[in-house]
This record gives sequence, structure tokens and C-alpha cells, in this order.
Amino acid sequence: SEVLQDNLRNEVSSFSFEYFVPKTAQGVQNLYDRIDRMKDLHPLFADVTWNAGGTSRQGVATTTEMIAKVNKAYGLSTCMHLTCTGMSREAIDQALLEAYNGGCRCILALRGDPPLENEKWEATVGGFLYARDLVSYIREQYDDYFEIGVAGYPEGHPEEHDHEVLIDHLKEKLDAGASFVITQMFYDVDHFLDWVDKCREKGITAPIVPGIMPISNYASFVRRAKWCEINVPPEFMLALERVKDDDAAVREVGAELVSDMCKAIIEKGHIYHLHFYTMNLEKSTRVILERLGLLRN
Ligand code: FAD
Repeated sequence: SEVLQDNLRNEVSSFSFEYFVPKTAQGVQNLYDRIDRMKDLHPLFADVTWNAGGTSRQGVATTTEMIAKVNKAYGLSTCMHLTCTGMSREAIDQALLEAYNGGCRCILALRGDPPLENEKWEATVGGFLYARDLVSYIREQYDDYFEIGVAGYPEGHPEEHDHEVLIDHLKEKLDAGASFVITQMFYDVDHFLDWVDKCREKGITAPIVPGIMPISNYASFVRRAKWCEINVPPEFMLALERVKDDDAAVREVGAELVSDMCKAIIEKGHIYHLHFYTMNLEKSTRVILERLGLLRN
């Protein structure tokens, strides 16, 4: 599992893909077909979310089944997200055991979104309060078998807007045993690069992986930016508003904006790994990678 960390420190551009478990059997089949089609992109790793957005678990494909599929398709070890939302200690033990038995070597340890029906996040009796506690627990139970990643928030977190405090909390997660950071989506590169500098000043030395959200549709772009409470630079709004009713044009303009953003991160931030929130879609991510010249033949 040191391989992933080493690769994230490598000055050779690489990228990874996030997928979520679809809600229907047809959705699962479509995603599996897409995963097969995306094999030729050669991601460094892929990860599977855990009830993201506060949805409760779906029965159509378990996270472990998805991980097995991704492992097989890409021939690599998949990273499993694991959250504390609604999870007793026993449920966490079970999930970790399934990950272990399923050949998973990497966990993205998260506190989790609040369940859809609750506005406020509440700890489960016998469960954990913060992602930091989950990181410590995984280390305690499995030593260094799993590589552990954690979430970072360049533009703040809905429950904590003080950047200094948030970076302190991020550092606590790394000190507890995590070895890399994946960030929340953002479109303001200058702000992101300043945040990375602040993390470094506070002694965070772990690889920081920017979370990249491709733009494939105007309405979902606006909705997600609002939900994550992130700043959208005026040039993004201007360029996208002009074409907002034409999905193909939005995809094209979006790919240009996002690939320029990725170029700036690689050039100015000396960060070489990009993490794509694929939203289970293929095209938008593929086009950005093409524009960045990151596809091998
Ligand atoms: P934490 O780091 O535990 O922080 C939660 C809150 O507690 C923050 O406000 C923080 O400031 C505060 N806090 C932390 N430590 C302390 C402390 N010691 N004292 C006081 N306050 C503290 N959600 C899902 O449900 N499923 C997913 O698969 C998923 N994947 C994600 C992937 C990425 C890359 C990112 C960035 C987010 C993801 N999320 C996912 C969303 C995430 O679960 C939420 O943003 C959640 O609200 C915070 O999770 P965290 O792990 O960052 O929590």
C-alpha cells in the first residue's frame, strides 16, 4: 500500500476516478459497462463512495461488489470510502472486514454527510464523532494494512468556516494515521493554491489531491457549487451562462475551463495527481484528460 502514497508524491501526472453505488440494477449495469469502457484511461486508482449525500444504503450492489468489479476491470486495488454516519462500532467492524476480505488496501475515512432526513449530523450510539476517531480506530485494528486518506476543504466546511480551525482538524486526521488528503471540489485555483500553502505552513506534509468536478450540465453545476458552498469564479459564470441551454456547448466550455484549471494546479501547485468526481459518467472526464494530454495510447 506504500505504492499509492509514493505514486501521489511522484512528479509524473496521474489521476483517479470516484464512482458511487447506483440506485437501480440498471444503473449498476450501466456503470459496470462504463467502468469497462474507461479501462483504457489507466487511472492510478479508483474509489467508491459510501452513502454520499446522506442516502441510506441501497441493496442493488453492495460497496464490496462494486469494489470487486473495479478491481477486476482496472487490475488495481480500489479505495473504499467509509463514514461514521449511522454506523455502530459493529457495523464499522463488519465494513472493514469486508474490505479486508475483498482485497481492498485503501480507505477514505470520513465523518459522513448527515442522513437526508436530518439537517444536523449526530453521532450513532457506540460509533464515532469525527473522521479522526475512525482513522485512529482503523490504525488500531489493522495497523498499517490499509492506506488511509481523509477529506480536506479548501473553501471551508458547512459546519466550520474558520480556515485555520479546519486545517488544524485536517492535521489531527493525518496525525492520527492518515497519509493523504483528497479535497472537496473547487473552481477557484488561486484560492486552492493559497490553502495548500497554509496547510504546508501548518506542517501538513502528506500529498494533497485536488478533487476535480467536471462540468457536464449547467443546472447540476450550479446546484453542486451551492450544496458544497464553494466560490465560482466570475469567468466560469460568464462563460457558462452564455451557453447554459445547450448541453453540448456547456460540456465543451466546461471542459476548457476545468482543464485550464488542472493545468494551473499542475504548473503552479506542483501537484501531479488529479482526482475526478466522475459522477459515474465517462465523457466529461475523458475530454478533460484528452485536453490535458494525459491519455496513453
Ligand atoms: P471531520 O474531519 O470529522 O469534520 C467534521 C466536522 O467536525 C468539521 O466541521 C470539522 O471542522 C469538525 N471537527 C473535526 N475535528 C474536530 C475536533 N477535534 N473538535 C471539534 N470539531 C471538529 N460523505 C459521505 O457521506 N460519503 C462519502 O463517500 C463521502 N465522500 C467524500 C469524499 C471527499 C473527497 C470529500 C471532500 C467529502 C466526502 N464526503 C462524503 C462528505 C463528508 O462526509 C462531509 O463533508 C462531512 O460533513 C465531513 O466529513 P469529514 O470526514 O471531513 O469530517
